[in-house]
Amino acid sequence: MALTPGSVPDSVPESAPKRSRLPAVDRVLAWPGLADSLAAQGRALVLQAVRAELAARRAGGESPADAALLAGITARVAALAQPHLRRVFNLTGTVLHTNLGRAPLPAQALAAIAEVALGAANLEYDLVAGQRGDRDDAVEGLLCGLTGGAAATVVNNTAAALMLVLATLAGRRGRREVIVSRGELIEIGGAFRLPDIMRAAGCTLREVGTTNRTHLQDHAQAIGARTAMLLKVHTSNFRIEGFSAAADEAELGALCRQHGLPFVIDLGSGALIDLARLGLPHEPTPAEALAAGADLVLFSGDKLLGGPQAGIVVGRADLVAQLKQNPFKRALRCDKLTLAALEAVLRLYGDPDRLVAQLPTLRLLARPGAEIAALAQRLAPLLAGALGALAQVDVWPVMSQIGSGAMPVGRLPSHALRLTPPGAKRASGRALDALAARLRALPVPVIGRIADGALLLDLRCLEDESGFAALFAGPAAAAP
Ligand SMILES: *Cc1c(COP(=O)(O)O)cnc(C)c1O
Repeated sequence: MALTPGSVPDSVPESAPKRSRLPAVDRVLAWPGLADSLAAQGRALVLQAVRAELAARRAGGESPADAALLAGITARVAALAQPHLRRVFNLTGTVLHTNLGRAPLPAQALAAIAEVALGAANLEYDLVAGQRGDRDDAVEGLLCGLTGGAAATVVNNTAAALMLVLATLAGRRGRREVIVSRGELIEIGGAFRLPDIMRAAGCTLREVGTTNRTHLQDHAQAIGARTAMLLKVHTSNFRIEGFSAAADEAELGALCRQHGLPFVIDLGSGALIDLARLGLPHEPTPAEALAAGADLVLFSGDKLLGGPQAGIVVGRADLVAQLKQNPFKRALRCDKLTLAALEAVLRLYGDPDRLVAQLPTLRLLARPGAEIAALAQRLAPLLAGALGALAQVDVWPVMSQIGSGAMPVGRLPSHALRLTPPGAKRASGRALDALAARLRALPVPVIGRIADGALLLDLRCLEDESGFAALFAGPAAAAP
């Protein structure tokens, strides 16, 4: 039965009127019914499960039969033995979902990780010279080749890259002011708000222009003796429509050169190829930003690039050298697993003809709608059979999104399995939540999204059809 909840009550009633009669811990541990658990999971974990189960029963004033106690303990053992971090099916319709780990990696990246993970690697060792090297060497040449930058460095993520750039170029005594348009003072989710990051990096924010319109003149007038740099942030996760204006990047670049100031662009997603080639809306590339006059460009490894979590900085060699010398670089650096994966992904870009087929992020974004529809048609009867009375299943046209701040408006036509629980509209909110919880409790959790009175499973990101089908292969699971 694929859909049994198998969950254990976490809380117990507040009042415990009756006194429980429960066996001692040592006696329970000696039960033959726990022998398999002990052999598979070890004593410490089973002991934890026994104590937790007994405590819960005691708090509830229960005196359960041994069989019921054993069932409760076994369920707890299974829950405790489950790794916290697990694979899930991302059927939310958001391809680069930050909460679900963003970009899926290609096989080449997994092989590269495995190659260096098991033992020693030349992470900071120059094999030709036989002496200490720089860990950026694994990717710097590739990044420069793909973006036209003169130098590159990589840190943990783009938030870290921005911290490093601000602290290095604008964290000094005297020149601390960073000029940013009011239309770009963004929050990118979680605790990442541009003004906060500036403060943390020790810079002073100099806002210019207005929310909807900022002109070259606004930037020019703000430049003074304390100006350290000019920052442009790609407003990736929202869009100001209508009466809006922003200064041209090339003009900003020229203005900065005139004043001898670094011009930094935080691109966020930063696609390495022209997405229009895949029939998607164009997203600015690091190469374009550098060509327009940026001195440094920042972008993420795990967004449209399709690689591991990383924050990439490309641009002027003297500025990148300053970043590398900052002690923060040491604190924010990537490990060999990340660099191995990033190198493998960047190498795929060297073969543009096969790139989309080989790189999951681009493959999923470019996936033909007809292929997704056909997949939905194949899976709908299977799910309908497995869910029985729990929900009606049909195929429903939906829009996927790219996610992680890229193109909030541009959306991708897709197909979902629409799961609609029976019953009155009034009850449907709770019924939907319960259904979503059931799918999350499957051996490989299935994460959909609730919209328009249904649970939608957008199949754009489902490539493991047989693995998904196996979850629902059992008999109908209509039991509560
Ligand atoms: C996503 C994003 C960031 C943060 O990138 P992480 O790699 O998640 O740290 C910074 N700036 C912009 C414009 C972004 O879109």
